[in-house]
Amino acid sequence: MTVAADLYALQEVDLAIDVRKSRLAEIETSLGETEELIARREEIAQRKEALRRLHDEQKVVNFEVDEIRTKASGIEKKLYGGSVRNPKELEDLQQDLEAIRRQLARPEDELLNLMVQVDEAEQALREAEADLGILEAGWKEEQAALRQEKEQLLAEVADLEEKRTRQSNPVQPQVLSLYDLLRERRQGKAVAKAERGMCQGCRITLPVSVLQKARAGAGLVQCVSCERILYVS
Ligand SMILES: [Zn+2]
Repeated sequence: MTVAADLYALQEVDLAIDVRKSRLAEIETSLGETEELIARREEIAQRKEALRRLHDEQKVVNFEVDEIRTKASGIEKKLYGGSVRNPKELEDLQQDLEAIRRQLARPEDELLNLMVQVDEAEQALREAEADLGILEAGWKEEQAALRQEKEQLLAEVADLEEKRTRQSNPVQPQVLSLYDLLRERRQGKAVAKAERGMCQGCRITLPVSVLQKARAGAGLVQCVSCERILYVS
């Protein structure tokens, strides 16, 4: 094997590591709560709070209605109980009763209105909770798949890195430095195949002398344009 062939094989391993590492980075950003999930939970908390306020209002108005009804039934007892016989007094009581019953109209309307609002709020809360349940189930499944993929990738990267160490050991340090530098500058591709007279890294037609040197496999030959190390398979 020539040095270029060794480096090309090393690059295959490095590129395989690169792909896995970039996928791992992607997975890392997808692990954990999603914004959608957080927003839905917040929405449900707000709905619950609104419902609680409606129930409080309901209690206050209920109390008011009860109070008025108690007053009314007290008057009714006097009116129909037979203890009051004076017609003037009875007439006054009758008027009081009617006045009190009129007082009931507003809070009773309010109560009815509140009941409708509570019904609607409860329905909306149930729907939001059901939606969240579906969302959470999907999310959990997705998270489990991501964690599994992550484990798999980490194991693959560990294997590949071992392989990389083995393959890079015989390569001279200064050659490795050039390789690393070129990889950094050329999007991970330090070595390019020379095929049909062209550098496959930048598609330039290579001078014959360069091609001949690359074919001979003695020492490193770099592309005259992109500087990648040329490899003739
Ligand atoms: Zn080139």
